[in-house]
Amino acid sequence: MPTLPRSSSTSNDGVYVKVAIDLALDRLFTYEVPVELSGRMRVGQMLRVPFGHREARGFALSVESGDGATPSYRIKPILGIADEAPFFSPQMLRLVRWISSYTCSPIEMCLRAAVPAAVLKPNAKPKERLFVEPVADAPDAGLTAYQRELLGNIVRVGGGWLQQLCREFTTTPATLRTLASKGVVCIAPHAQRRDPLAGRTVLASRPLALNDMQRKALEAIIGDGAQLEGVDGKPPRPVLLHGVTGSGKTEVYLQAIAHELAAGRGAIVLVPEISLTPQTVRRFAGRFGGKVAVLHSALSDGERYDEWHRIRTGEASVVVGPRSAVFAPVRNLGLIVVDEEHDMSYKQDETPRYNARDVAVMRGSLEGCRVVLGSATPSLETWLNAKRGKYALASMASRVAGHPMPTVHLLNLAEECEAYASAPIFSKFLLDAIAERVRRGEQTILFLNRRGYSRVCECRGCGYVATCPNCSAAYTYHSVDSCLRCHICGAWTPPPITCPDCGGHDFSYAGVGTQRAEQALRKCFPHARILRMDADSTSRKNSHDDILSKFRAREADVLIGTQMIAKGLDFPNVTLVGVLNADASLNMPDFRAAERTFQLIAQVSGRAGRAEKPGEVFIQTFHPDEFVIRAAADADFIRFADAELRDREAAGFPPYMKFATAMFRARDCASAQRWAELYSKSLAKCPGLIVTEAVPPAIERADGWYRFMVQIRSATSNAISSAWRWISKARPAPKDMRVAIDIDALDVM
Ligand code: ADP
Ligand code: ZN
Repeated sequence: MPTLPRSSSTSNDGVYVKVAIDLALDRLFTYEVPVELSGRMRVGQMLRVPFGHREARGFALSVESGDGATPSYRIKPILGIADEAPFFSPQMLRLVRWISSYTCSPIEMCLRAAVPAAVLKPNAKPKERLFVEPVADAPDAGLTAYQRELLGNIVRVGGGWLQQLCREFTTTPATLRTLASKGVVCIAPHAQRRDPLAGRTVLASRPLALNDMQRKALEAIIGDGAQLEGVDGKPPRPVLLHGVTGSGKTEVYLQAIAHELAAGRGAIVLVPEISLTPQTVRRFAGRFGGKVAVLHSALSDGERYDEWHRIRTGEASVVVGPRSAVFAPVRNLGLIVVDEEHDMSYKQDETPRYNARDVAVMRGSLEGCRVVLGSATPSLETWLNAKRGKYALASMASRVAGHPMPTVHLLNLAEECEAYASAPIFSKFLLDAIAERVRRGEQTILFLNRRGYSRVCECRGCGYVATCPNCSAAYTYHSVDSCLRCHICGAWTPPPITCPDCGGHDFSYAGVGTQRAEQALRKCFPHARILRMDADSTSRKNSHDDILSKFRAREADVLIGTQMIAKGLDFPNVTLVGVLNADASLNMPDFRAAERTFQLIAQVSGRAGRAEKPGEVFIQTFHPDEFVIRAAADADFIRFADAELRDREAAGFPPYMKFATAMFRARDCASAQRWAELYSKSLAKCPGLIVTEAVPPAIERADGWYRFMVQIRSATSNAISSAWRWISKARPAPKDMRVAIDIDALDVM
């Protein structure tokens, strides 16, 4: 057997490191640490290691001494340390390992999810530019008058980037170099920060005087009861900040962060990707200036690299970003805020399928830091945790400065149908209200939730929706075999010919989209300025911002859009909000349909009347007596949540049971179905699991892959993940198939 270079001995008495290699192999590899490197070796570092016949990179997960025994296999030494500063702290490694085990995802993929790809690129580095710095007290004897004047200017502005100085003082690099040769300035390369906020005006803001509710909320977050090192050494309980829209939650976050900064600690603020508009970022940058780092998907690689390093070195101590920012390497982390904690965008929809809100809570407990979950419409998971005392609860039940909640009107579309023979897109009451706003120079937001896959079968005459008799969930129309299918039990039926409620024969399968609504509106108001915001109108970079800026600058009277416009926007001149079809989300074949409907109506209504002018909301529905719609119209979250929790408990759904979906994808339909059925049958035999039959999801074929899915419920997520690990080992699917589990799935289709 050939001996390896640098391997110190054959007996196991050196230092060893377990390495996760970046190849999604879901196992750790052991390497020896050469004596000359062992002093510098730390967990979390990126290492260069031999792998097969090539070199690979990997992260050191644990370092240990050998036990002196002769290993049964040959252990190779590592080749070197790629980066001295660890990418992961020991707590962060524990967090990543927890995600890997909780979500059943390979550890390497979880590590990779926790560091921006831009940072891991082998050639990633800071951007260097030439910087001109005046030399203090250098004699200016040999200078011409022009050079002396230029030097005076450079001293006055304290030096600067070479190119910038050339522009500013209309001179050339050669002239500046002459100054350098005469020893009065020094020119050297410096790292220049690529600043994502460069060129944006940020106005400094001062803390506002809090009202009583805000003060109590702040107290719950940072007060005596929430000591970082509690008496029993336990981390503080996470706080649910339940505050109606416009109750001033952001101001509470800002002051809690200021408290942490004053104590020398840092903070992370998670916001839904969609609300990471300049407006949100400005509120944090306005208060904390250069201490703020922004991480989001629209950054360039260079900006992301710089922001991440500014956080790692401690230069930035407040991080604002979407879900992946929960991993930001903030030093001495004191607080994590999860704004709009119920938001679906916190869930990653590819491996590892983690929910950043839950990761935040886990990180808080591992690092002993405070966690605040804020929402006007908390998820029922979080609400139950608060009811059970696992989270502390702080409530803010009214808007700041005595601004009233908007007046909500329910418009019964069925009544309008009688007048017009079919359901109008806009009720005449809504049209009158819009006309009045246009006249008064106030603004209107119209909301229409029509997601691509909400293909319910709906009677155009009375709004009847074909529903599965077993599950009381709407059937989904499948064009492949033109049948209606239940996504919960798999039952199917041909589409109806006659409506059982009104006897009509006219059914719609697609419904009204935002584009059609926009057209109709333009017909009604040829002179109004109308903007539309949906996935089609925002595909261009920055188009999202552009539309919102136009609307903010009052360059439009009406903004019409999908759920994109439902959240977080604060436009003082908006006094009218219309929900064109409140039933669209209610009829989704999803056990969370009522919760989504409540959130949506409450959030959109929250956009109206946020400043001095009072707001009005019109909700169009075929079901004005439906419990959820009434509760949402009253913005009564507690009434809704208590009733919904009772239903969920009775039916055995989250938050009382854990819910997961398993997806099986293959190029041919038969193998996807065969494997889904096989897994479904095997998992159903595991004690404590409730497993559905294999059914095709709403989108049966995507990207050339046929899909089947199985839903799994159990009292604990551990029961599901253990069973999943067992079956994936016992019956591994063939290589040409893709099989994935989504623990705590939010999407049931
Ligand atoms: P939320 O996040 O709960 O929807 P915001 O934090 O956006 O509410 O607050 C709504 C508005 O009220 C903002 O314009 C904010 O500047 C203002 N505001 C917040 N707190 C106060 C306060 N204590 N006094 C006066 N105005 C406030
Ligand atoms: Zn059913």
